[in-house]
Amino acid sequence: MPTIVIPTALRAYTDNQTSVKVEASTVGEAIQQLAERFPKLKPHLFNEQGRLRSFVNLYLGDEDVRHLQGLDTPLNEGDELVIVPSVAGGTATHVPTPGRHAPPGQSESPALSDWRHLIDDTRLQSVSLSQEEVLRYSRHLIMPEVTMEGQKRLKAARVLLVGAGGLGSPVAMYLAAAGVGTIGLVDFDNVDYTNLQRQILHFTSDVGRPKLQSAIEKIQAINPHVHVIPFETRLTSENALDILRDFDVIVDGTDNFPTRYLVNDACVLLGKPNVYGSIFRFEGQASVFWATHGPCYRCLYPEPPPPGLVPSCAEGGVLGILPGLIGLVQATETIKLILGKGEPLIGRLLLLDALAMRWRELKLRKDPNCPVCGENPTIRELIDYMEFCGLRGEEAPITTDELPSITPRELKERLERGEPLVILDVREPFELEISRLPNALHIPMGQVAERVHELNPADEIVVMCRSGGRSAQITRLLQAMGFRRVKNLAGGINAYAQEVDPSLPVY
Ligand SMILES: [Zn+2]
Repeated sequence: MPTIVIPTALRAYTDNQTSVKVEASTVGEAIQQLAERFPKLKPHLFNEQGRLRSFVNLYLGDEDVRHLQGLDTPLNEGDELVIVPSVAGGTATHVPTPGRHAPPGQSESPALSDWRHLIDDTRLQSVSLSQEEVLRYSRHLIMPEVTMEGQKRLKAARVLLVGAGGLGSPVAMYLAAAGVGTIGLVDFDNVDYTNLQRQILHFTSDVGRPKLQSAIEKIQAINPHVHVIPFETRLTSENALDILRDFDVIVDGTDNFPTRYLVNDACVLLGKPNVYGSIFRFEGQASVFWATHGPCYRCLYPEPPPPGLVPSCAEGGVLGILPGLIGLVQATETIKLILGKGEPLIGRLLLLDALAMRWRELKLRKDPNCPVCGENPTIRELIDYMEFCGLRGEEAPITTDELPSITPRELKERLERGEPLVILDVREPFELEISRLPNALHIPMGQVAERVHELNPADEIVVMCRSGGRSAQITRLLQAMGFRRVKNLAGGINAYAQEVDPSLPVY
């Protein structure tokens, strides 16, 4: 029987099964069978019209089924069908409609030949190494793949890291140590306690400081020869082209879809290589998108999943070492691009399952119909990426205003007065071990719809989660199901801990 490999992001809908055996003779039959066996999974695979969603890719072996016979591709005994979805923190789920891509047999990597001249000779001649640098880089200089020329290329190179967080940390440290001459950093965040588990560029003593300050200090401590250019700003459609223009390689260390599409489109418009990495729980993806020589991110995932369908990294969590593993793939690819050596990850998507410690390599092809790098692109300038990702509404204050909510202080006062409130905690069971409110009814978010009979519409219900996002969705769901007296606990149990009950931990 063929097996379908389920990605982490979708395992919540398959009773945590990592793979499912099906009795099917084609890819279409297999996916249909999977959806029937796990009805909750169905909306994540198919849209309302019953077509496979555009952010779910299906691979048989290392080949995208769109390049085989689509849903009619035959399956044999022992075949493994892999679902590759898009995930914000570094993994994406998309299946463009069949027929969008080049038919099988068409050449897969046009003009891969001339990618090796990222640093031109004029710039190469303008740099030299001091005696201290020669000593520092001596283990590079004696390698035939690097030599003095390669080390000068590294020194002449300008690399931009978008994000100085989980992925940006190892990339920045290794690029600095390797002698990349100029490193640009885009980040506007401050270091938070929850960052320390994986963002190794930042230390406990940095909590509360701007990430850029912390990053510059560490990079210069590793290698004072590196010139760091900080951009303390959010990357936007207005500033992206100006920021990216002066760099040779862009490293995507973002954790959200709007910035990921923005980085991709800006790189395509400027003809720059985009060294991509993404992470979710214990799974990661990496590739090099360079439209001049191969596919871009949109060739893989033309559109983002609708908000809420795929959990974010903040909701889903991430294993602390994972950005290290994926970030080092990005750092390696960056250095190879600069040196002009080896075989870059252009046209290949690397998938890591750290739990199984298994890497897979999938083929990526340029999509001639890609909206940004295809033959007749419809995107010729940067667009509104919040709107493109369907996030405008979430940011607009009007939506939260409309949502009936209660502050932690109000809740505490009303509980102390003994008012008959039902507190509905929609977090996952393991989160209750971190912090909980007494007498709360616990129904994990994904089970609320089917267990709604446990709630009484006549009760006044306060929905709560960690920080207010999931509970807002459930508040809306319950409203839509006819509950009139439902409220969202603003800021979740973390805000409750910070504002009224310091004995509870914040996580
Ligand atoms: Zn493309």
